[in-house]
Amino acid sequence: MKDIINKKECGWKSIDESKKNEIFAFADSYIKFLNSSKTEREANRNIIKTLNENGFQDINEMTSLKAGDKVYLNNRGKSVFAAVIGHQKLTDGVNIIGAHIDSPRLDLKPNPVYEDAHLALFKTHYYGGIKKYQWTTIPLAIHGVVVKPDKEKIEVNIGEDDNDPIFTITDILPHLAQKQYEKKIGEAINGESLNLIIGSIPDKENDSVKENILKLLNQKYGIVEVDFYSSELEIVPAFKARDLGFDRSMIASYGQDDRVCAYSLLESIISVHTMDITSIAIFSDKEEIGSYGNTGMYSEMFDQFMNQLLDKTDENIVGALNKVYCHSKMLSADVGCGVDPNYQDVSELNNSSYIGYGVEINKYTGSRGKSGASDANAEFVAYVRNIFEKNSIIYQVSELGKVDIGGGGTIAYILANKGMDVIDCGVPVISMHSPYEVTSKYDIYSAYLAYKAFFESNEKITY
Ligand code: MN
Ligand code: MN
Repeated sequence: MKDIINKKECGWKSIDESKKNEIFAFADSYIKFLNSSKTEREANRNIIKTLNENGFQDINEMTSLKAGDKVYLNNRGKSVFAAVIGHQKLTDGVNIIGAHIDSPRLDLKPNPVYEDAHLALFKTHYYGGIKKYQWTTIPLAIHGVVVKPDKEKIEVNIGEDDNDPIFTITDILPHLAQKQYEKKIGEAINGESLNLIIGSIPDKENDSVKENILKLLNQKYGIVEVDFYSSELEIVPAFKARDLGFDRSMIASYGQDDRVCAYSLLESIISVHTMDITSIAIFSDKEEIGSYGNTGMYSEMFDQFMNQLLDKTDENIVGALNKVYCHSKMLSADVGCGVDPNYQDVSELNNSSYIGYGVEINKYTGSRGKSGASDANAEFVAYVRNIFEKNSIIYQVSELGKVDIGGGGTIAYILANKGMDVIDCGVPVISMHSPYEVTSKYDIYSAYLAYKAFFESNEKITY
């Protein structure tokens, strides 16, 4: 008989030395992925590279598909759908796991360069839910592209190499911050003061620091000021992902929401062998700003990918896509809130996740009365529990914070609306959305095992 009381135990307690080494090795590869994937474009590129190295092919190059084929669709260099085709019909349902590869950051405005108080600066517009004060007085890097009208695409990546300069956003010295101290913390730094310092030497001829910087940019990248109109330049923390703690059990890094789930998902889809059921991985963009646009989860691009699978397996009859969706199961692989020892009062501790206690399931998200939630059916929760318990995967079930304190959402509801069974399942994070988010190596590995076991499961849910 199972224990009558639900004993929640730390994952580290039940593993031996060799399992610990496996977890640490997995984390080392994850750290490399993080350091080379600071934007959705970079994550996309690394994901496509790994898929190619593991026998996946561009779906546009395939005329027909059969069991065992591995394909992907690269959506505009920003989101990816990948599939391992199974023996069973797609219309009998597929197993889907979906993560996102965009993270909160600062974007440059279309007219970013200006000069003020004898310094040159870039204007920014923040992307996603940030606490603005966290982005001042830290080293920042610039990543992205400038595209010229003749289609030439210039890659920018500056601030990561030890020999690169970095950039920073200033803040008031405490000596003169009396007025700032009186403001509410959310108002102490406003969006229009998130300006990046980029130079201070004036042009010898006309005394303009801005012009001197534009000349330097022209020499280095061959761009002129108007080229910023067609650029996507993202400001991200210049720190590297690092082991955290004397015991090295945790990872501190920018962008773990949601690249931690994206990485675990990537490793699981490449390790799936051909099953009866088809496995599908989604790496989506724009989750942090509502999943809109043609690289976000709301886009018809995913339907287009699924229709291509139906076409190329010769299954595409009227209504086939709906049938696939209504018979499918999905894990929405996104991060949750780990209990922060310094701020425990925002969490209801009996319904919260602790880092190191395994992959986290959120039956529902939403806020204030489950508003906006996709609430997974108990039958589906039981189905997922069974997979994890059968495979001895330690997991925890929690909510995001106390009732009425706030809340959040993921891509879960977008796919649940199409008719499939969906539940949120990911890694708990401390300091989520900050420039330096904290996760446990145990949970990251636990997510990988959970995703792999989910892909390899193929039973009917009984309603
Ligand atoms: Mn997320
Ligand atoms: Mn987020």
